[in-house]
Amino acid sequence: MSFIVAIDGPAGAGKGTITKLVGEKLGLINIDTGATFRCVALNMIKENVDITDEAKIKEILKKINIEIRPNGEIFLNNEKVTKRIRENDVNNLVSPVSTIRIVREKLLDIQRKMAEGKNVIMEGRDIGTTVFPNADVKIYLDATPEERARRRVLQNEEKGIVSSYEEVLENIKDRDKRDSTREIAPLKKADDAIYVDSTNLNIEQVVEKIIGIINDKNIVNFEFDSNN
Ligand code: C5P
Repeated sequence: MSFIVAIDGPAGAGKGTITKLVGEKLGLINIDTGATFRCVALNMIKENVDITDEAKIKEILKKINIEIRPNGEIFLNNEKVTKRIRENDVNNLVSPVSTIRIVREKLLDIQRKMAEGKNVIMEGRDIGTTVFPNADVKIYLDATPEERARRRVLQNEEKGIVSSYEEVLENIKDRDKRDSTREIAPLKKADDAIYVDSTNLNIEQVVEKIIGIINDKNIVNFEFDSNN
């Protein structure tokens, strides 16, 4: 038996930060499905595989081994790639890669296996709709594109990267459009997902709200402990 919390939403809504914190507080294993798409994109870069070369992509997928360790480190074919998969070449390739049917099919299988028999909090775009349509709790985490762009610019600043708000906003709108209009498993709120708008909330408030939703479901008796 496993207990599954699905967190879906657009780029920059805060899914990564929130999922990590809620997972730590409730003792749930954190599975970042975006990282699995990033691993496929990185594998293609390393092996020089073109996005249109289906035969080569199939070969890569046959051999691919993706691990998300309990400490959050990501391994691709036994090599640690936690930081590498956040670099620009991967950022640019990941969204087109995520529209390829055979990639999504393979990753669907990998993602389901990652959760087998475990209590997990899984974040992505299609967890509540496609990966785990029977998840115990489904959250759709959103914020306005302007707020998401503002947060991304601040994040970049912290990393020492200077970025223009207009460019970041444009990029976020592009990604939203591509992720929500693609043919397979588009970004979409599941009918039974609870919509959480984080535009005017800080991180602690969002964490508290989501833990409240999980408790309200009355499935598990987790207590939110603000001193934790
Ligand atoms: O969440 P992150 O930005 O790391 O995801 C990278 C990309 O992977 C997204 O822009 C999206 O195109 C794709 N993705 C997806 N389905 C998921 C998770 C991510 O299509 N469940």
